[in-house]
Amino acid sequence: MSADGKLVLVVEDEVAMRRFLRASLQAQGFRFVEAATVREALVAITTHNPDLVLLDLGLPDGDGIALTRKIREWSRAPILVVSARGRESDKVEALDAGADDYLTKPFGMNELLARMRVAFRHHDAELGERAPLVDVGELHLDLERRRVTLAGVEVHLTPIEYRILALLGRNLGKLLTHQQILTEVWGQAYATHTHYVRVHMAELRKKIEREPARPRFLVTEPGVGYRLRDRDDAGRGG
Ligand code: CA
Repeated sequence: MSADGKLVLVVEDEVAMRRFLRASLQAQGFRFVEAATVREALVAITTHNPDLVLLDLGLPDGDGIALTRKIREWSRAPILVVSARGRESDKVEALDAGADDYLTKPFGMNELLARMRVAFRHHDAELGERAPLVDVGELHLDLERRRVTLAGVEVHLTPIEYRILALLGRNLGKLLTHQQILTEVWGQAYATHTHYVRVHMAELRKKIEREPARPRFLVTEPGVGYRLRDRDDAGRGG
């Protein structure tokens, strides 16, 4: 990833964590601005207009999820939540509030940088023209011609299966919640029908995964949602 002097706002009340992130990100060529409270974060966002926000959820004067909603009222900069809270409900709430991804502490710097790469790429794609072609290993999606191939062989999907895969493909590498998938594919009225996603995802996996029980492409984040694995992390297990 070329940092190109991109400005990262770190919202974090732990001094040691801020120091670690500052050293690591500056070593990668990022510019860095920090805030220890919700109040400082709001000032920093309006003053500096950061390119990306790393956000801790537990802050002394308020909650990171409420802050996420506030940021989303006017900024589309990627928000990565970095939190000690690993509960599924916290992840779902943060993503539905407008966060792009969620990392549970402790995490490795390489993992953080990989997630930042995905977030920047997704953000750039949103601003520019959407790439109509998505390649993940031998899986190939042509979103213009609505064609899916696996190792060069065409895969026949139902309209719903195609819409799910196309949605995940347009958001390559990004974790989408059940609610986000249901709303996009079926419509707002179906936002709570989580079993729809599960059933169709199982069918989809039978068609594009060699071992549906150990998916290479369609990754489950238990209790949260799904992501189509990006080529950046295609080599990693799990
Ligand atoms: Ca904290």
